[in-house]
Amino acid sequence: MEFESLEELDTFITNYERINCVQLWKKTAKTIEKSKAVCPKKLASCNEDLKYYSLMYACKIGGRAFKSNGRGIRHTSTYKDNYPMMLKLALNNDGSRLKIVEKIENHNHPVNRELFESMPKQRTYLLLK
Ligand SMILES: [Zn+2]
Repeated sequence: MEFESLEELDTFITNYERINCVQLWKKTAKTIEKSKAVCPKKLASCNEDLKYYSLMYACKIGGRAFKSNGRGIRHTSTYKDNYPMMLKLALNNDGSRLKIVEKIENHNHPVNRELFESMPKQRTYLLLK
């Protein structure tokens, strides 16, 4: 899966969240600007509107969100270490697009299935099944 613009990527993320009943946040991001110092040749002719050399989205619930809610939920090392859901993107070889290079779809918490199944599209699918 590749994206020619940040708008395209945004749309994909929004749809992904809706379809999978998850909320994503940008966990890490490396800009083209900064990466130019490391690989100027590769980035000389890239599409700078893409802004990112690489970036990673993670599930809000499985990640940092636990830490910051301040209601005393324990943040055990298990949560950090079992590789929860993430989407990793990087510039493709000619620098014209952002490409999904890695995808993990495990969640270390229950996903809201009720909401998912109440969506019209999914209900049709279930009926057909
Ligand atoms: Zn999750």
